Amino acid sequence: MRVYVESYGCAQNQGEGAAIARELAAHGHALVDAPGAADVGVLVTCGVIGATESRMARRWTELSARIPRVVVTGCLVPLRTGLLAGPGRERTTFLPIREQHRLPELLEDAGPPAPQEAPATGLGARPPISEEVVIAQGCTSGCAYCFSRLARGPLTSVPADAVVARVRAAVGRGVAEVRLTGLDTAVWGRDLPSGEGLPALLRAVDAVPGDFAVRVGMMSPQSLAPALDDYLDALGHPRNFRFLHLPVQSGSDRILRAMHREYTVGAFSRIVRAARSRHPDLHLSTDFIVGFPGETADDHAASVELLREVGPETVNVTRFSARPGTPAARLPPLGPRVAKERSRAMTDARREVARARLERWIGRTESARVLEHGPDGSAVARLGNYLPVVLDGQPPRGSRVRVSVTGVRTTYLLGRVGADGPF
Ligand code: SF4
Repeated sequence: MRVYVESYGCAQNQGEGAAIARELAAHGHALVDAPGAADVGVLVTCGVIGATESRMARRWTELSARIPRVVVTGCLVPLRTGLLAGPGRERTTFLPIREQHRLPELLEDAGPPAPQEAPATGLGARPPISEEVVIAQGCTSGCAYCFSRLARGPLTSVPADAVVARVRAAVGRGVAEVRLTGLDTAVWGRDLPSGEGLPALLRAVDAVPGDFAVRVGMMSPQSLAPALDDYLDALGHPRNFRFLHLPVQSGSDRILRAMHREYTVGAFSRIVRAARSRHPDLHLSTDFIVGFPGETADDHAASVELLREVGPETVNVTRFSARPGTPAARLPPLGPRVAKERSRAMTDARREVARARLERWIGRTESARVLEHGPDGSAVARLGNYLPVVLDGQPPRGSRVRVSVTGVRTTYLLGRVGADGPF
């Protein structure tokens, strides 16, 4: 079969989409990069906010009008499949996330793979340098706004030896950046008999031979806190990007309680201080939700103040979106104008704070790993703390280079590759 895969949303969804494509190619299917060339289309959906869900429904309509058969998976399945109504429905298969491994047999039933006449494209043509390795399904928390936990269910960790095997396989395919991914990576292992946690898993991954770097994905403060010191110690291995993605969501304890987030602003700030004292160049990434039901002007001001206080290098700002089936969807919403104004104010503060944090790097010379090539002869590399630096040249993807930081833009650095080239 000629298969077209299109994925949306978080690193985990992207990772699962890439894994689906690899698995289907391994079963002899041809990967194509245009819907019109496909016998089957696989749509990996995201349902994190309402606007994205609507976009998924539109995209399904477009794909099912062009491709004989469509498989829909990802976070809209099974909770929101009712939205996908129309002529393409009888040619659509809805595949829950935890059954994605069944896709090759599902396609098998529909007939043998087409001969590989179509050149491997998209995922196959230029092997990826970065790869998501999903370490767990689900989550242990109950955040009031979160649709992902409803879609993905309770925590199911991938056993350590299976994670290590996936990393070894990825490195064997030439991957130079492994992204350990999950809804909340810090809860990994809590459901496993070994009782080991994320620090142990990270050490096991770091022990895999090869020239690669590791980025650990998003985690929640309540899950990281119990193993903080051990995790910060494990993060110190030279293979790991000293990067911490720790969504705080609000600077108001009252709103954190309403969100069912199980930590206080003070606890979050203590984690950040501990992480920065252990890793002075740590790159902090955090998330804020603005306009959560009941949020007052004072709550919002507290969020802006926290942003300025902790000074994250990266901030994702999301306007609250009531997701069906979540407790927060039953709360009276704020007016859209208020949410829009607060989103703008938070975004302005984010720009200011991030730029000031990035400017500290101007004039420094650092090692970096080249991960992407731009269309204009440039490249994007990542410093040891995962800060992105745009280079005025294209050293080989996956290579490590010395970079002199020459300037900044709002969300990234500018740099020049050192004369001593890749090493
Ligand atoms: S920790 Fe993250 S994935 Fe888990 S319920 Fe909260 S927001 Fe959702």
